[in-house]
Amino acid sequence: MSVVVFAGAGPRTSGLLERLGANAPELFDGPLEVHLVDPFPVGAGRVWRHEQSPLLRMNSMAEDVTMFTDSSVACDGPVRPGPSLAEWDVSTVELDAEVRAELAAMGPTSFPSRRVQSAYLKWFHELAVESLPAGSSVHVHPTRVVRVTGSSGVRQRVWLAGRAGPLVADVVVFALGHLDTALSPEHAALRDYAEEYGLTFVPPAYTADVDLSVVPAGEDVVVRGMGLAFIDLVVLLAEGRGGTFVRVDETLHYLPSGREPRLHVGSRRGVPYHSKTGYRLRGAAPEGPRFFVASELLARPGEIDFRLHVWPLIAKDVAYGYYRELFTGHPSRVRMAWEEFAGRFAELDWYSSEMRGLAEEAVPGVVDRLDFEHLDRPIDGLAFDSADGFQEFLRSYVAADVARRSDPAFSADLGGFLALLTAYGQLSVLAASGRLTGEDGWWHGFFSYFASGPPPDRLEELLALSRAGVVRFLGADMWVEAMDGVFLAGSASVPGEVVRARGLIEARLPAHTLSATAEPLLCSLLASGEVQDRAGLVAVDPVDSRVLDASGVAHARRFAVGPYTTNKAQAAFARPNTNNPAFRQNDAVARAVLGFLAASAVDESVA
Ligand SMILES: Cc1cc2nc3c(=O)[nH]c(=O)nc-3n(C[C@H](O)[C@H](O)[C@H](O)COP(=O)(O)OP(=O)(O)OC[C@H]3O[C@@H](n4cnc5c(N)ncnc54)[C@H](O)[C@@H]3O)c2cc1C
Repeated sequence: MSVVVFAGAGPRTSGLLERLGANAPELFDGPLEVHLVDPFPVGAGRVWRHEQSPLLRMNSMAEDVTMFTDSSVACDGPVRPGPSLAEWDVSTVELDAEVRAELAAMGPTSFPSRRVQSAYLKWFHELAVESLPAGSSVHVHPTRVVRVTGSSGVRQRVWLAGRAGPLVADVVVFALGHLDTALSPEHAALRDYAEEYGLTFVPPAYTADVDLSVVPAGEDVVVRGMGLAFIDLVVLLAEGRGGTFVRVDETLHYLPSGREPRLHVGSRRGVPYHSKTGYRLRGAAPEGPRFFVASELLARPGEIDFRLHVWPLIAKDVAYGYYRELFTGHPSRVRMAWEEFAGRFAELDWYSSEMRGLAEEAVPGVVDRLDFEHLDRPIDGLAFDSADGFQEFLRSYVAADVARRSDPAFSADLGGFLALLTAYGQLSVLAASGRLTGEDGWWHGFFSYFASGPPPDRLEELLALSRAGVVRFLGADMWVEAMDGVFLAGSASVPGEVVRARGLIEARLPAHTLSATAEPLLCSLLASGEVQDRAGLVAVDPVDSRVLDASGVAHARRFAVGPYTTNKAQAAFARPNTNNPAFRQNDAVARAVLGFLAASAVDESVA
């Protein structure tokens, strides 16, 4: 029987299994022996396992999450539609009582708990397994893959932790997902310093996996980072330690349990990520990419520089999506017909005085004009005399952001957001080509900050925690120094303020690169030249995701998908009807695997 081993069995692997089932009737309908190797539960994997705090939530709305292909997906295999998380009918599904209660109360625009998504993923995984060709078997190994050996010409030996002999596979698929990194020299030094002085230090990590009992109650702790890891951290250290939120006269208040630390939080921007929007488009449906089209850039010879060739086009596309919604959804706020604006807009560079002039002529309200630089660094250049004054200011900034992002009058922001998602997909095509240079991480940070922020009610909670004194905002261009046996921290926003703290938490996910990976499997493949490090990512074939070795040769029997590869698609679940790149990749990989198995079966029968 043909054997396929998956290293990692999170959501991506379930998606691949579904595509194997969907494509098998056309390409290779023989039974498969599938081995799923993962120390975490299959289907949900590490990130979406049920065993985590029920307080942790998705930052996606239920209607924006699907595991099923739909007619928008441009792939060679058959489309097999199914329900999004919001449409999921659980009447016949066995569920944990708390999860069932949450699902009963959930609406399409709710931001569900990770446990709800875990249940949806488990259910999808079971469907995907059932769809495999008749006679197939699936074996689960709750452990890690530590090594894989074998050239393209021979079956692969897949070595598992805690198992003496290897699994023997025709094909191996690496779907390792979000990975850990070794401590950087800076973090190792901070850890040593903390140990020496009896302080608390938490390096970058997946917040759900961190032992937060090391963070003492009542202690001043500096937190570096204001993204989603920070939101998770605050949830676990406040409500997770017994505090409660109560609403009195429209205002949310936090009642501390007394077990919270005092969190002094800052970052380079000094503000939290923008709130997710809570409405739908009012105007015309979005168009596909118009200005930033990966295939057009790839058709030109030479290097493609992110800042020079790519960002101005992304900015223009995002602005186009934004203004399209403003003009077609809110015509009373503009002074020109959309057709005229769009025609003139198309002719101009985003960073030109003519473009600025066009926006000023057509859009009278300053709040309705798009300014990426201000959006990106909204409090740069502001300096406050007192930390208390800065707290007031930042609370009003966050409250205004929540109000704007919850108000359908500003649905143009959603138009921009959708265009940004499209740009992300185009950029992944460019990145996979290997010709993109100069992307230093700014883009990913900006994307997350603009488009991947918390639900609005999390920011409301943050405001309540700030008023209760559990959270203190440090400001922008934050600095931290290990000095005087404590951590000192301050920022450019309140130049006169220095915080002395006995703890430092890096509130961000590990930034994985191949050279700094803590994953033994990748370390072993890198050491033997069986993977190629391309700007920190595992190089794979852009079409079928076959693993490339150090000299660029594709391994016939090894495939790799996910955020640590050059074919990284959007690091989020697919939204329905968006021709999601991960679906297209899964389909291409599944077809390549089945094609390979069919060809090997013929070879074997001839031999
Ligand atoms: C903290 C966090 C929150 C997120 N929240 C959202 C959200 O709200 N909305 C959204 O759309 N997207 C979100 N995402 C992104 C989304 O979860 C991911 O895109 C999705 O989990 C990717 O699935 P995956 O299977 O590729 O990776 P993972 O979910 O990381 O699964 C990979 C699996 O591989 C296993 N593995 C790794 N190495 C080995 C090995 N050597 N041997 C065996 N098994 C191995 C791991 O244990 C893991 O279970 C989030 C991501 C993170 C990290």
